[in-house]
Amino acid sequence: MKALIDKLCETHTLTKEEWILLIKGRTPRLAEYLFSLARKERHKYYGHDIYVRGLIEFTNYCKNDCLYCGIRRSNRNVHRYRLTRDEILSCCHTGYELGFRTFVLQGGEDGYFSDERMTDIIYSIRKAYPDCAITLSIGEKSYDSYKTFFEAGADRYLLRHETYNSGHYGRLHPASLSAHDRQKCLWNLKEIGYQVGTGFMVGSPYQTAEHLAEDMLFIKELNPHMAGIGPFIPHQNTPFRNEAAGTLELTLFMLGLLRLMLPKVLLPSTTALGTIDPKGRELGILAGANVVMPNLSPDTVRKDYSLYDNKLCTGEEAAECRKSLELRMQAIGYQIITARGDSLNV
Ligand code: SAH
Repeated sequence: MKALIDKLCETHTLTKEEWILLIKGRTPRLAEYLFSLARKERHKYYGHDIYVRGLIEFTNYCKNDCLYCGIRRSNRNVHRYRLTRDEILSCCHTGYELGFRTFVLQGGEDGYFSDERMTDIIYSIRKAYPDCAITLSIGEKSYDSYKTFFEAGADRYLLRHETYNSGHYGRLHPASLSAHDRQKCLWNLKEIGYQVGTGFMVGSPYQTAEHLAEDMLFIKELNPHMAGIGPFIPHQNTPFRNEAAGTLELTLFMLGLLRLMLPKVLLPSTTALGTIDPKGRELGILAGANVVMPNLSPDTVRKDYSLYDNKLCTGEEAAECRKSLELRMQAIGYQIITARGDSLNV
């Protein structure tokens, strides 16, 4: 197994069979070895700097019905909200003052935010904050919509492929959605010129080592600027309420593997990781991650953007969130920096 990690470190790739062997054969000792190599790679390109992104969850309306997601259409127990353009701009203002130079607009697939409304919002942010990156994370759209947003000033797009395997994808999503369509969106985004982030949930229901191997091969092929992974966490008002959450241990292992596969990729240590373990985000950084994405949404709506149960920071203000992360990162020898934080994986 150690030889496979060495091979990955040298060649940045493995075959499907090798991925499966390594994922299945992982041990705590092997993981420590992996993390030490992953940290070395990460320090080579990004040093001890941590990039921050300010996450603005601007709508929790969603037309989709993903089985794992707390804001799915069928969940009647969620209080739905939308932020206005001015509220979004005010989040950016708060964020800018706190040192954020990337704003991530994330939301459900909400028809209210037509291309026209989105373009207006993007353009307003672009005008007010010319030195900042604007990231969108609003799901599957047509090529032309993506292009329109790009031309209005959006630079980056986050769209996790969720799982590459179409059979597995079908068990996590309604029949109206397909793995192929989602992947096609990612290729379109790349073609238009976005810096693209993809990723998957670790430990989602029915997931096998083979599925994870396929995820790694897909990410290698796509060669994204960012790869966001986090544990699946059940939400009480979804069909997966009784499923087990993904583990800290496997998520960290996958982070280490991603760092060795794409040494220059941006790798967030996610809120979901911090939710399943009090030291999750620190451990993510120590496994090779180099980005954190604290919340900038107004605290009045935080609890309503509940993708999964017990999500972190729902009761904190943006400034508290930012400060506590800074202290946490300092405590393990890393520093949050004020910069756009563009990917070196181009
Ligand atoms: N509507 C956008 C944003 C989705 S929310 C889109 O389609 O991309 C962002 C991410 O949260 C999702 O891509 C998914 O991977 C993750 N997520 C959703 N529900 C989750 C859960 N129960 N546990 C862990 N992660 C979840």
